Amino acid sequence: MAFTLHERQMLGLQGLLPPKIETQDIQALRFHKNLAKMSDPLEKYIYIMGIQERNEKLFYRVLQDDIERLMPIVYTPTVGLACSQYGHIFRRPKGLFISISDRGHIRSIVNNWPENDVKAVVVTDGERILGLGDLGVYGMGIPVGKLCLYTACAGIHPDKCLPVCIDVGTDNTVTDFYLTIGIFAMFCRYGQNTLIQFEDFGNHNAFRFLRKYREKYCTFNDDIQGTASVALAGLLAAQRATGKPLAEQKVLFLGAGEAALGIANLIVMAMTESGVSPEEAYRRIWMFDKYGLLVEGREQKVDSNQEPFTHQAPEQIPKTFVEAVNVLRPSAIIGVAGAGRLFSQDVIKAMASINERPIIFALSNPTVKAECTAEEAYTLTEGRCLFASGSPFDLVTLKDGRTFKPGQGNNAYIFPGVALAVILSSVRHISDKVFLEAAKALTEQLTDEELAQGRLYPPLSNIREVSIYIAVKVMEFLYANNMAFHYPEPADKNRYIRSKVWTYEYESFMPDVYDWPESKVH
Ligand code: NAP
Ligand code: MN
Repeated sequence: MAFTLHERQMLGLQGLLPPKIETQDIQALRFHKNLAKMSDPLEKYIYIMGIQERNEKLFYRVLQDDIERLMPIVYTPTVGLACSQYGHIFRRPKGLFISISDRGHIRSIVNNWPENDVKAVVVTDGERILGLGDLGVYGMGIPVGKLCLYTACAGIHPDKCLPVCIDVGTDNTVTDFYLTIGIFAMFCRYGQNTLIQFEDFGNHNAFRFLRKYREKYCTFNDDIQGTASVALAGLLAAQRATGKPLAEQKVLFLGAGEAALGIANLIVMAMTESGVSPEEAYRRIWMFDKYGLLVEGREQKVDSNQEPFTHQAPEQIPKTFVEAVNVLRPSAIIGVAGAGRLFSQDVIKAMASINERPIIFALSNPTVKAECTAEEAYTLTEGRCLFASGSPFDLVTLKDGRTFKPGQGNNAYIFPGVALAVILSSVRHISDKVFLEAAKALTEQLTDEELAQGRLYPPLSNIREVSIYIAVKVMEFLYANNMAFHYPEPADKNRYIRSKVWTYEYESFMPDVYDWPESKVH
């Protein structure tokens, strides 16, 4: 409906469309009106993703217009629901599927993808979709959703993004085989600089692949590194709010998996940068998993990634998480167990009695898996806590009338901006330092007024500018450290990045029509 009269005539569309020309503004308005009539989140998801299929520019337009309200639909928490129902709500295929029966033919599958200039791939094996477990091929909703945010948040061209699901069962060596061949096939077709984001792999494979590929290819694991960056940004914001330096915090994790270890390692990196020895930094971080506190000589296995955070047992070994809080007296607790409401009233109250400003991050997704709600955290600490969650929570108003805006420690603050910088700088591989820089850049965007409202992150509605700022900072870091291979180096990186960003405005379909001088015609 937005084709101009001349475009309709040129393209042979006249008469095939109703005789009315609409602007994108009107189309967006209609979208928002239709959406407002729907109450079921899954119905909203189906409607929005249908727009992505029919009118991609409009889809990104409306996402950008109202990202705060729509992100929870295309991303956590609704995307979790959509993945669990994927087969039932299936309309049209999106992304590239590699199954166990495709052995020997992966190159031709990759060659079937219709786009010739892919710059970014998000790949999952479906094994750990959000905190929902192994959803197999239904997990495709995650790479699709993540890449929507590449475009909506950072303006990366949608045609340059490729979602991939390699669903080959949970045997590690099989996944290894398919993934290696799959990545090789991507490189053959799209070049070695193609960014590959690993998403929602099971714990064991996630660490193995990160180690295997990080120094070789342009890859990162969002669940480990992206999460780390956004959580660290939250802690840096908390440092600003309380004046207590990060290096003096004592952090207790609930969960000791991908997210916990990623965050913990980045905290260590940030602490050591501020002058603390690595040993001292490790000593400030504790983890509590399914079997209890990670302590030396415990019966249950501690893997090599967890060893640096496994300490000498306190005199009285705590059996429960609340006991651990009381024994260790942490200044921050970070929940990343994916096991539901484990920050009980007692835990939150204990944190409130130990600390003037307790830091409480309930990062597990989707919302039902969060360790506590925002309301619980603010109420039980009389509004003193610094709270962040992985999935969004509404504003909380206490009985005394004070209102708090819970921070959403959402990776979407980090990965789109990092990806934009990485793609535009032609990076060979992505150093962990990139995620430290991104965290700092994110915290810099938070104003003092926002911090005073209890926010630890800038408003999501501003995510486009936030992502571009992160991209600029990361790009400066990449060039300063000889990690960027795009030449010549852009002098004004902000301007360069903005010139490359994809926009949702409709392009003209009119050919370039002009006249030659009279003399040339005759
Ligand atoms: P993971 O690698 O499987 O780790 C889960 C960890 O939690 C494991 O150490 C597990 O112990 C432990 N655990 C499980 N049940 C527990 C219980 N009842 N009590 C204490 N510990 C328990 O998964 P992950 O990648 O770290 O993700 C975990 C959660 O974080 C998910 O819900 C995910 O959605 C969320 N997450 C959020 C963000 C974000 O919002 N920014 C980013 C990434 C992940 P065992 O190994 O012994 O089972
Ligand atoms: Mn994830």
